[in-house]
Amino acid sequence: MAERTLVLIKPDAMVKHLAGNIITDLYTLNLKMIALKLSKVSRELAEMHYSEHKGKPFFEDLIKHLTGELHNNEKVIAIVYEGENAVQKVRDAIGKTNPDECIPWTIRGKYGKINTKTNCHETVIHASDSPENAKREIDLWFDKDEIVE
Ligand code: ADP
Ligand code: MG
Repeated sequence: MAERTLVLIKPDAMVKHLAGNIITDLYTLNLKMIALKLSKVSRELAEMHYSEHKGKPFFEDLIKHLTGELHNNEKVIAIVYEGENAVQKVRDAIGKTNPDECIPWTIRGKYGKINTKTNCHETVIHASDSPENAKREIDLWFDKDEIVE
């Protein structure tokens, strides 16, 4: 099976009408889109998705960010991409975690910002950071029959 990765277009991107721009940027990677849906993210799902960050100082804002609470209750677009080296290709295209440190033409370099009122980096997109995490995250966000091969 070719490598898969999970992408989430986060509420900060949705409130800024950036979903189209982000998907257009991701097309240049020549990966195959094999699942896509709009999701109103519950606190439970957000906490499971970001369980590795539990206990960190920015955790509460991170959860409020993913559920849309900080951005007009916006939803999330979840996408699964498949292809050779999919995880690293998408990570390279999005840039670093801190938007201020990103190469300017990466997705986070173009669209991310540090909101000075909250503690959260508004990173506009999530992408899995390893094939193992991708598998866990895809199972969390999608039912088997939502993957269109
Ligand atoms: P990435 O999204 O690049 O995989 P992490 O998994 O480390 O980065 O963090 C998840 C999310 O938590 C980031 O996208 C960002 O929204 C937020 N975040 C990470 N580190 C910080 C930080 N030091 N301060 C505020 N928010 C952070
Ligand atoms: Mg991460």
